[in-house]
Amino acid sequence: MKTVYITKANLNRIISNLKSTVTFSIDSVVNEIEKDLQQYNLFHEDHITDFFNNNELKNIILYKKVLSSEFETIINNIKQNKQNINYDIANSNKKYLFKTDRPAYHSDSTCHYLNSDFNNIRLPEQYNNDNVKKNLQKYIHLPFNHINNIFQKLYNTNEQLTEIHYDNTGSTTFINSKVKDLIVIEQKAIKYKKQLRFLLSNENIGKKIANFRYAPTSKLALVIQNEDVQTKKAIIEFHEAKIKLKEIIYNLYNIKNNQLEDKFHFNQYVLDEIGFKACRGCSAFNRYDLKQSA
Ligand SMILES: [Zn+2]
Repeated sequence: MKTVYITKANLNRIISNLKSTVTFSIDSVVNEIEKDLQQYNLFHEDHITDFFNNNELKNIILYKKVLSSEFETIINNIKQNKQNINYDIANSNKKYLFKTDRPAYHSDSTCHYLNSDFNNIRLPEQYNNDNVKKNLQKYIHLPFNHINNIFQKLYNTNEQLTEIHYDNTGSTTFINSKVKDLIVIEQKAIKYKKQLRFLLSNENIGKKIANFRYAPTSKLALVIQNEDVQTKKAIIEFHEAKIKLKEIIYNLYNIKNNQLEDKFHFNQYVLDEIGFKACRGCSAFNRYDLKQSA
């Protein structure tokens, strides 16, 4: 068994693939997460469903399962579905200016490609075509704002390009997860949970916050646009604390599974099974290959 490494962006890709193929009863998900977190003094008397929606809970449980030994047993769900990963790639190639490739794993945990950020530019839907891409790729040496201006002028549109960063440095809240940090992490988790509870029980706006607590964070600004300034502020504060708490829960699972938070180690066989390939930058086999053809 050979251990290889993948980026956080690719870990997320596996999770989103699994999400469409694995079904869970939400009750068992809630039970399992709460049980896991009880040893950290979280969710003894209250419930994780007070803060997180079903989609978020599914993400948390899949994160746990992918990092644990259970992954090999659920892998069959995506195994015969290698086209899932390919579909994913075809899909993002439509949306993005630069081509994305099959996801790769790395033999060397210090490989440059494992530690570099994934950057790309997303095109508005009606501009997803090869011509637009060809026209814009000429300007890749320019700063993003310039590329966006050129795009708007070329196509006489107010639509915007979006700059995408998949920051591989992980969350900025923590340095690498080590067991000695566990007490600090636990204290932070309790702090954020208290903050969430405090906001929900606020006499004036607690009810309002509760109404918006399950809104998808990515659409939050849109959903709360008609609320007054103070309510908006409180709802945003709630969602920010929620994201922090979720990161901490992920971090606790990282520690439990002896994983770092920015690169993740797996059995190479498992990743081969679901359509990953070896990185050309650090795989010994490919280095030898290059030498032969040189
Ligand atoms: Zn590599």
